Amino acid sequence: MTLFFVCLSAQAHKAHSHNLGSANLAFDGVKGFFELEIPATAIIDFEHKPKNSIQKMKLQKSIQSLTESLPKILILDETFGCQLSNSQSSVIYSGKNDSHSEFKLTAEIQCLQTPTLPKIKIKALSEFPKLEKIQVQTIIGTQQKSFVLTPSKDTLN
Ligand SMILES: [Zn+2]
Repeated sequence: MTLFFVCLSAQAHKAHSHNLGSANLAFDGVKGFFELEIPATAIIDFEHKPKNSIQKMKLQKSIQSLTESLPKILILDETFGCQLSNSQSSVIYSGKNDSHSEFKLTAEIQCLQTPTLPKIKIKALSEFPKLEKIQVQTIIGTQQKSFVLTPSKDTLN
């Protein structure tokens, strides 16, 4: 569990940005945890709290579709035999009067074999074209690494 707390606290220091996403991927043996944060503006056309029922519905739909897009976003080489589970998305508000928001997607991963880099892809940039970069942190066993993904680079190497 310690691993996951390290991830979450690293996330909290990210600066407010509309074109930068962040992802954390941690593995302790064959069990892993994935976390992706994307500025709301890359997904939906407003980032304040929903003000009416139409916006509420739009937001719910976006949250659901982010959860459903997980298998398109996190690609682990099939030789590792990984299953994704418990994927969920939510919206986190911050800033003055909750003026900024980020979508957060989390999932648990169970593999037959501990995945190794670079056979892991995070394809969030093709799903969300408004994003320019994704900062990725991986912790696999005791090895911690950081990457910056751009539209032309979706592999962790
Ligand atoms: Zn904002």
